[in-house]
Amino acid sequence: TNLNIVVLISEVVEQMQIKATQSDIQINYISDDLPEILGDYDRLQQVFINILHNAIKYSNNGDIIDVISTLEDDHIVVSIRDYGPGIAEIEQQRIFSAFYRVEEDRSRGPGEGGSGLGLYIVKQIVEKHEGKIEIVSQVGEGTNIIVTIPILSVLIYGGDKNEKPKE
Ligand code: ATP
Ligand code: MG
Repeated sequence: TNLNIVVLISEVVEQMQIKATQSDIQINYISDDLPEILGDYDRLQQVFINILHNAIKYSNNGDIIDVISTLEDDHIVVSIRDYGPGIAEIEQQRIFSAFYRVEEDRSRGPGEGGSGLGLYIVKQIVEKHEGKIEIVSQVGEGTNIIVTIPILSVLIYGGDKNEKPKE
């Protein structure tokens, strides 16, 4: 269905801010005016929940997280930036694999952990929207996750490829 990505991200930010506040973390969201896109609302919410969940988990108390969405030609670009520990270059492509977690995180105590599925799921959903996900990160500087989604993406989830987008 057609969806308003600004509303979708705002809802996720509002929801995740509750969790972030516990660590005195502030999530800032700014956006261009964006056209509606074709997509699966719940699954795209899951994308931003998972990415923000990581950003919060890896931020230091008192940090901010910047979320920015912009329009570029025929696609939307969403950037989620944290000022946490960053991810070494050698790990950067691996973190999208199922069950992959960076060494230090694997040895954390119970409660700190995760399954290592978060970004794998994110990547699957983004690719089903014919989008892509990139990571720009440097150890010690933080992590920037960039999601690109075409406005008129053809949904593979039971969508009819020949169906014209509604005016
Ligand atoms: P799950 O999301 O299933 O609870 P997870 O968070 O460990 O577990 P992913 O979200 O797939 O799994 O992330 C994989 C790994 O990538 C993490 O374990 C962590 O090492 C690293 N990572 C992800 N996001 C960040 C980030 N913002 N800053 C630093 N490291 C990150
Ligand atoms: Mg995660």
